Amino acid sequence: MSTVPKCPSCSSEYTYEDGENYVCPECAHEWPIEAAESPVEERVVRDAFGNELKAGDSITVIKDLKIKGSSAVVKVGSKIKIIRIVDGDHDIDCRIDGVGAMGLKSEFVKKA
Ligand SMILES: [Zn+2]
Repeated sequence: MSTVPKCPSCSSEYTYEDGENYVCPECAHEWPIEAAESPVEERVVRDAFGNELKAGDSITVIKDLKIKGSSAVVKVGSKIKIIRIVDGDHDIDCRIDGVGAMGLKSEFVKKA
């Protein structure tokens, strides 16, 4: 569903996504994906108890969460700050001390 926009610099259609950026191979222009996206419809994400979650909210984890690709576990009761709400299966973007940036599912957290 992601459509890569044309290059704003040279209108090339051969742009592609590279991490956080779109890249134009023709003029080497790079620009952030976020800024290029038109405002999406308001997306409401709720915690396990139905409270609305927003970027900047503090949440706690309500069950031990294994971290994909590592042996680390985010323990029940871990306090986390939401960086932003995103689309997808893991709808909370956050940063956890000692772990780093990761995505969480809103169904496994509660608003602190
Ligand atoms: Zn270009």
